[in-house]
Amino acid sequence: MIPAFLQDAYELLRNCRLCPRVCGVDRIGGSELDGRKGFCKQEGIIKVAYVGPHRGEEPPIAGTRGSGTVFLTGCSLRCCYCQNYQISHEGLGKTISAYELAKKIEEMCNMQRVHNINFVTPDHFYPHVLHTICLLKSFGRGIPVVINCSGYQSVEMLRMGEDLVDIYLPDFKYADSELAKKLSACPSYPEVALAALDEMLRQKGYLSTSDTNPPLAKKGVLVRHLILPGHTDNSYTALTMLRVEFGPRLPLSLMSQYYPVRRQREESLNRTLAKEEFDRVLKHAVDLGFENLFVQFPDQAKPGLHERPKFVPDFTRERPFD
Ligand code: SF4
Repeated sequence: MIPAFLQDAYELLRNCRLCPRVCGVDRIGGSELDGRKGFCKQEGIIKVAYVGPHRGEEPPIAGTRGSGTVFLTGCSLRCCYCQNYQISHEGLGKTISAYELAKKIEEMCNMQRVHNINFVTPDHFYPHVLHTICLLKSFGRGIPVVINCSGYQSVEMLRMGEDLVDIYLPDFKYADSELAKKLSACPSYPEVALAALDEMLRQKGYLSTSDTNPPLAKKGVLVRHLILPGHTDNSYTALTMLRVEFGPRLPLSLMSQYYPVRRQREESLNRTLAKEEFDRVLKHAVDLGFENLFVQFPDQAKPGLHERPKFVPDFTRERPFD
């Protein structure tokens, strides 16, 4: 029997407002003609591209045995430069029921002993994800649940999942709404993401970790910012906004891993991040006094010429992160 709050959540798919795009399409009963798919291009059944351990997350999330990632197909943001474009744009993945997914996650937890269950870009399937978490809890699975998201989240949906989620791992991508419009068709991103972050922090606070060695994430919020080549001004303002709104104790992860997985219209996005660009943003983060900073240095991430870097997943493979 599905709990009443989940039935309500599933009902939202009939006039979809799971994310702030508020497309209003009927993802369950709508016909092809009416347009059953909204901006995320996903219908009413959950579609999953990969379930498995991933060791590339921040140390308290990845730990020693990896984070148990569940990559969902589609995305409500669909940035033109998306590093996971095979699933966000091209729809790679398979439909699955919430029960089958819970069983698959259970198997991953038993076999791989991952430190947490990490739903990646889950907002357009939030009812299914909450349902899956309820099933996992009914199986007795008690490890932390991570919501790994774009930052462009509906406060209403975040509230619906409050009691089922332990950790939020949101991006804060843009301070510049013109850039958000150009790269993600989403001019409202800065204010929507700030409101969503505010709600996540109200629910869980800053990321807290265990006393173990290494420390593992238990609960809270860790914000990520991907520095885009040619757009350090956006990064500069994004960090200032975060510092002003949420203070220096906000855990922040600066990511330098950008890689042009597809040809981009904007020339600066056809290259990786320059060391000088990264240094400028890192210096600003330090000057702002962020106390809990996770840093991925560009030297660690840089690929050779024409070489697809190891950290860019290939979801056509059985193990995308090899
Ligand atoms: S989840 Fe998809 S269909 Fe629903 S409002 Fe967001 S983009 Fe539109």
